[in-house]
Amino acid sequence: MKAGFEKIWEVVRMRSLRARIFLILILVGIIPTVIMEMVIVQTYEVKGVEQRTNMVQGQLKVLANHLVANEFLAGYNPNSPDKLESYKVIEAELDMLASLYEGRVMIIGPNYKVLLDTYNIAEGRTMIAEEVVKCFKGENLTNYDSEFGYIEMTTPIVSTTDDGDSTVQGVMLTSISDSTITSTLRSLNRNAMAFEIITIVLIVVFSFIVSGTLTSPFERITKAITEVKEGYSNEPISVTSYSETVHISDAFNQLQSRMKIIDDSRKEFVSNVSHELKTPLTSMKVLADSLISQPEAPAELYREFMEDIATEIDRENSIITDLLSLTKMDMSKQDLNITSVNIGDLAEIILKRLRPIARKKDVELILEETREIVADVDEVKMSLIMNNLVENAIKYNKEHGTVKVTLDADIQYFTFTVEDSGCGIPEDSLPHIYERFYRVDKSHSREIGGTGLGLAITRSAVLLHRGTITVSSQEDVGSIFTVKIPLNYVGG
Ligand code: ADP
Repeated sequence: MKAGFEKIWEVVRMRSLRARIFLILILVGIIPTVIMEMVIVQTYEVKGVEQRTNMVQGQLKVLANHLVANEFLAGYNPNSPDKLESYKVIEAELDMLASLYEGRVMIIGPNYKVLLDTYNIAEGRTMIAEEVVKCFKGENLTNYDSEFGYIEMTTPIVSTTDDGDSTVQGVMLTSISDSTITSTLRSLNRNAMAFEIITIVLIVVFSFIVSGTLTSPFERITKAITEVKEGYSNEPISVTSYSETVHISDAFNQLQSRMKIIDDSRKEFVSNVSHELKTPLTSMKVLADSLISQPEAPAELYREFMEDIATEIDRENSIITDLLSLTKMDMSKQDLNITSVNIGDLAEIILKRLRPIARKKDVELILEETREIVADVDEVKMSLIMNNLVENAIKYNKEHGTVKVTLDADIQYFTFTVEDSGCGIPEDSLPHIYERFYRVDKSHSREIGGTGLGLAITRSAVLLHRGTITVSSQEDVGSIFTVKIPLNYVGG
C-alpha cells in the first residue's frame, strides 16, 4: 500500500522516468494533431470566403457591364410605372443574385445616391460609406465579418469610351451571407474534433504502453537487485536490453563480488583469529593437564611448565594487543592525531628502544639521516611503523648482521628505508606478507614471538597517512622496506 502510494507520488513529482517518457510522447503526439486541426479549419475558412467572393464578384461584374450597356445609372427610376423592359430584367437578375446568396445588392449612382436596393429600403438615400468612396476612386474592397456572418464587397460600374478612357460611374455594394461556409466549417469542426479525440485516446494508450516497455528493463534490474538484496539469489544479474542497463548490471556485479571478497576475508580473518588464539590455550591446557596427571611431579617440573605457561600467556597477550591496534587502525581513519613531528628524533628513540634486542643477536643498528625532516604525521602510528619494520629487520636477521635505517626527503615526501642483512623473503611470499597472520615460516616466526600481524598493522598505518610501502628482498641476502609518506598530511 505504502509502496504503491510512493510510486504514485514519484509519478506526480515527475521523478519517474516512465512518467517523463509518457508525458513527452503525449506532447509530441497531441500538439501537432491540435495544430494541424486548427490550421486545416482556418485555411478552409479563408479559402471558403475567397471562393465565394470571387464567384459573386464574377457575376457582379457581368451585371455591371449590363448596367453600363443599358445606361441603367442614367435612366433608371425605381418608382417609374413604365420602366424599360431591360431594367426589369436587370432588377430580376439582381433579386435572383441577392436571394441566391442570401444577401443584399445596392446600386449607388454617381452622386452617392442609392438607385436600387434589393431590400427596397434605401432607394433614394445617399450612401457615403468609406468603401463606396474608395470604390469610386477605383479600389475594390472585400470585407468579411465572421462575427455577424456576412461578406461585404464593392464592385465598380465602369464605362469605357471609344478612346479607351474608363470612368467609375457607380458602385455596387453587395453583402452576402456566409451560411454555407459556416455550416461546412461546423461539420468540419465536428469531424476534426472526433478525429482529435480518437487520436488523443490512441496517443495516450500508445504512450502508456511504450513508456512501460521502454522502462521495463530498469524495473527488471531493480527486481534482480532486490532478489540479491533479500538473499534469494547470489547469481550475477544480467539485463542486456540497453547499454545503460548493461553498465548498471556490471557495476552491481562488481560490487557484489567485492562484497563477497570482503565477506570471505572477514570469515577467514575470524577463523584465523580463533585459530591463533586457540594455539596458546591448547599448549597451556596440555601443560596443565600433564601436571595434574602427575600428582608426584617434582617442583622443578612445575616451575618449568609454569614458565612455559607464562610464555604462552605472553604470546596470547601480544596477539590480542596486535589485534587491538589493527582494529584501531581500521576505525580511526577520521581521528588521526596529526602533529608536526621531527622524524629523525623519532627514529632515534625507536632505535634506542630496540637496541637491547639487537644486542642479543649482535646486530648493528645504523641510522643515516641526510637532512632534518619535520613532517605532519600521527606520532604514535608513525612510531608503530618504524618499530615494526626495524624490529622485523632485527628478528629476521643473522647473528652479527646489520640493520641500516635511512631517512631522506624531497619537497613533497619523506622516505624511511630499513635495510637488513637477514634471511630475506622468498619471491612467491612477497605479495602475501601484508596479509593478516601471514608468516613465511610459521614455526620460526612463532619461536621468535611473531604474530603475523605486524606488517598488516604497518601497512594500514602507512595508508592512513596516504603513503606507500614497498619491499625488495633477496633470499639469504636481506630485505629493504621503503616507506614514502607526504610531508604535509592531506586528509579526505
Ligand atoms: P611477524 O609478527 O610474524 O613478524 P609480520 O606481519 O611482521 O609478522 O611479518 C610477516 C612475515 O613476513 C613474517 O612472518 C616474516 O616471515 C616475513 N618478514 C617480515 N619482515 C621480514 C624481514 N625484514 N626479513 C625477512 N622476512 C620478513
